[in-house]
Order: sequence, then C-alpha cells, then structure tokens
Amino acid sequence: MSALQALTSELLAFRDARDWRQFHSLRNLIVSLNLEAGELLELTQWKTDQEIDALPGDALAAEALRDECADILLYLLLIADNAGIDLLAAAQAKLLKNGEKYPVAKARGSRAKYTELG
Ligand SMILES: [Mg+2]
Repeated sequence: MSALQALTSELLAFRDARDWRQFHSLRNLIVSLNLEAGELLELTQWKTDQEIDALPGDALAAEALRDECADILLYLLLIADNAGIDLLAAAQAKLLKNGEKYPVAKARGSRAKYTELG
C-alpha cells in the first residue's frame, strides 16, 4: 500500500466515523478544495515577495502553510476517491504529458507556454 493509499484510508475512516460521506458530492469536494486553495493564497495577501519567501522561516506562518497545504491534499484525495482516480498514476502520466509539451531542448530556461515554444 502506498503512502497515499494509507492516508486515503485514514481519511475515509475519519469521514465515515462522522457520517460525512453524504455531504461529499464531487461538486462539494471540488468547491472545498478551491476554498482551501484560497486560504493558502490568503497567506500571501498584501505581502511583498520578500515577506512571502520568509513565511517558512516563521513558526506560526509555517504552521499555517503546512495546514493549508494539508487541507488541499486531503480534499484532493477525497476527489480522487470519489472519481476513481489513481492519483499517483495520474500524476506520473501527466508528468509524461508535460514532458512532451515542454521538451528540455525547447523549454529549458524559458517561461513561455508550450504553444509559444519555437
Ligand atoms: Mg484550511
């Protein structure tokens, strides 16, 4: 069992102990993931790049970063479970696709979108 599968099992047990499956439609899970992403984004609101780069070095801010990243991962696992997605396989397949869109010879050191690569 992968670490992701073990974490998913733990998460589903947490959900089921609270009888929350009934609230976890695919739409609600996608909305919730995006709300958590908004909470992560909120940690950067009104800050300079320098202040944002310093967040991991501040104990309270680092905890907030960890918490929001974890919230996002947990909702992503619930979405994958709901939709029958093998996240590891999907991520590996997407990395391959990205590699085809962004070949090293064309994309190295460039921030151009793949449609703009020469
Ligand atoms: Mg949160």
